Amino acid sequence: MRVACAIPVKTSFGTMFDRSAVFVEIEDTQGNRGLGEVWCNFPACGAEHRARLLETVLFPALIGASFDSPQQCFAALDGQFARLAIQSGEAGPVAQSLAGMDIALWDLVARRAGLPLYRLLGGDTAKIPTYASGINPAQAVQTVERCRSEGHRAFKLKIGFDRSSDLDNIARISASLSENECLMVDANQAWSLNEALEIVPDLQAWPLRWLEEPMMATSPPEDWQRLAAATSIPLAAGENMMNAQEFGRAITGNAYGVIQPDLCKWGGISGVLPVAREAIAAGKLYCPHYLGGGIGLAASAHLLAAVGGDGLLEIDANENVLRSALFPAMVTDGELTLDDAPGLGLAHAFERLKALGIAGGAPA
Ligand SMILES: [Mg+2]
Repeated sequence: MRVACAIPVKTSFGTMFDRSAVFVEIEDTQGNRGLGEVWCNFPACGAEHRARLLETVLFPALIGASFDSPQQCFAALDGQFARLAIQSGEAGPVAQSLAGMDIALWDLVARRAGLPLYRLLGGDTAKIPTYASGINPAQAVQTVERCRSEGHRAFKLKIGFDRSSDLDNIARISASLSENECLMVDANQAWSLNEALEIVPDLQAWPLRWLEEPMMATSPPEDWQRLAAATSIPLAAGENMMNAQEFGRAITGNAYGVIQPDLCKWGGISGVLPVAREAIAAGKLYCPHYLGGGIGLAASAHLLAAVGGDGLLEIDANENVLRSALFPAMVTDGELTLDDAPGLGLAHAFERLKALGIAGGAPA
């Protein structure tokens, strides 16, 4: 499904003019149901492609199959489609579709157990810290003010555009912060290593909590090491890491201070749960990456509540009814409290979208 953006979302590599989402629902033979979400932020046409991939290739693998746990299902399907993912050059869409299916299975299992997902996963607190994300460079100070009035105490600004306007935005937002607030910046892979090395001394003038993807996510480990050694600002990445080995290297290395898997983009709950636990055990900040619809945001919130640590939930500050109609994510003094509903707590998600005139089923 797809809705238009009143205000387009700007990143250093492109602009989102509408918001799309692929939501999946899985039902078992006893009639238990679960909801999941498949990453499809860019390009917008990718939503339809992933929906077709699910319908024609991946869902059929579940029909008549039986698994002891979502983890077992995830491992089996990951193995079953590994060669297809390579052969088709579609590793991303396959991984993202499997991630959405995995989230739906976890929701199903938690609903069946009558427990909120974070409780099923061993979490004992419903409260999680949050931050307002996706803050566009235009009107950035005003957006921060709005997010503050909505309860946020941490803010992430998009940078990687014109250098002087980036620095001006950081300076003006930093000047507005009170003692219990903080600012992070996301360059969305904007710079080369040399450009990043040149820019970090300027960024260090402010107490930024992290600098996210300053250069291409696939830059060699030695480039990340070099940049990390050149700055006191913790480096953050993970939304473009696509397997457990890559996360393992990032967690055991010392280049990254913040690990940010997107559970709708790779891994679902089954893949990201061990990554999050390892990251926290290694002394890193686990902060779920997320900028999609409400089902994935709820799943990210439950996973963060389950593993604990000092990480923050990324909440998109931009308008997106596909998120807000399903998981409004009300924040009070920088924290969100999950309710006691079973699973992800979104049993009536599709009815809510239909009531708003947003079509379910085939992508609109
Ligand atoms: Mg990012």
